[in-house]
Amino acid sequence: MKVAVVKEDAPGERRVALVPETVPRLTAAGLEVLVEQGAGDAAWFPDSAYLAAGAAVAPRDDLYATADVILTVTRPDESALARLRSGQTVIGMLSPLVAPELAQRLADKGVTAVSLDLLPRTLSRAQAMDALSSQANVAGYKAALVAAEAYGRFFPLLITAAGTARPAKLLVLGAGVAGLQAIGTARRLGAQVSGYDVRPASKGEVESLGAAFLELTSVVSAAGEGGYARELTEQERDAQQAELAAHIARQDVIITTAQVPGRRPPLLVTEDAVAGMAAGSVIVDMGASDLGGNVAGSAPGQTVVTANGVTLIGATNLPATVPTAASNAFSRNISALLLHMTADGALQIDTTDEIQAGVVITRDGEVVQPAVAKLLHQDLHHEGVSDVDRAGH
Ligand code: NAD
Repeated sequence: MKVAVVKEDAPGERRVALVPETVPRLTAAGLEVLVEQGAGDAAWFPDSAYLAAGAAVAPRDDLYATADVILTVTRPDESALARLRSGQTVIGMLSPLVAPELAQRLADKGVTAVSLDLLPRTLSRAQAMDALSSQANVAGYKAALVAAEAYGRFFPLLITAAGTARPAKLLVLGAGVAGLQAIGTARRLGAQVSGYDVRPASKGEVESLGAAFLELTSVVSAAGEGGYARELTEQERDAQQAELAAHIARQDVIITTAQVPGRRPPLLVTEDAVAGMAAGSVIVDMGASDLGGNVAGSAPGQTVVTANGVTLIGATNLPATVPTAASNAFSRNISALLLHMTADGALQIDTTDEIQAGVVITRDGEVVQPAVAKLLHQDLHHEGVSDVDRAGH
């Protein structure tokens, strides 16, 4: 079976789905690895490293013409879609809950689609395949660095002959995988860090990193299914925003990471809360998206300075800006999933397996993943299902 690694074409995307170090794991399982010319260049993996690891390097046309399985980080664009053939399998972060129509198009072409972002994450045997976690970890790390760079003062307490600098007060809203890494990184930079989340289980995790946990009286618990948060009611949301605003006003830096699967990112920092911050404060909104983010006034991919001097950074695709580390982790995730689905050197899809039932989106010309099929069905029957209802991981 030929497994091909394509060069990512999305603007700013510097990751590669498979790194040279992982190639021998696939060849040892009887797979042949083909890598598109220059696929790893932007993540500092030259073609020569893939060749040395036992892969073949080929131009794009040869790759699509001969591959059985295509490995990608993000979802295929129009030109990749045009090249994919019936009988081929594509594995990557295909965001089928955000773009279910892509799943339909892949099914119509007879392409088998496997999406890492629908992996059942609570199964311990799936942890090595959890690309959402590995990439969120990279993103949380980079968010703290982006905040530190935009902040006009020091993060740590510094006592020098030229004076004493007090440490930055930094609050992380949303303490999942990304939030915890942002907390750890900001602590290592010397900031005075606190964290907040609606899942009570996160309190111990925040405190274990040496940060303070911010407890609000307005929302006691909003733990949902599968370790995720549930969406707040309107009343809870209003109370949370009002109570948070008082804490936000005392912070120098805020990093927001809050997400609820399948929903628009919750608004945690209102316009009034931003207006209450001192000039020179920085907010990094990791929830920033076209559907709106965690922070009023933030825009995806943009840095905005408010009238009162608060820098709002709409951080998108932070993992692509730490491309080597992100690709290393992604490569381990995608190869673990591929090997899980492979026997005797060939793909053996078995959707009675809980992992595969989650990640296999299309098969034999049909959209088979229930959550994706349901979204497409809704689209057919309720024209104009809002993007908000489709937003998700
Ligand atoms: P996520 O990206 O869905 O959300 C980020 C954080 O935002 C979550 O912690 C969530 O509770 C929080 N949040 C949502 N709404 C909020 C609100 N209104 N106010 C404040 N915070 C809000 O989450 P994630 O990082 O993917 O992980 C979610 C949970 O799943 C974590 O507990 C994580 O440890 C767990 N998890 C478990 C496994 C496993 O068991 N193997 C793997 C991955 C993640």
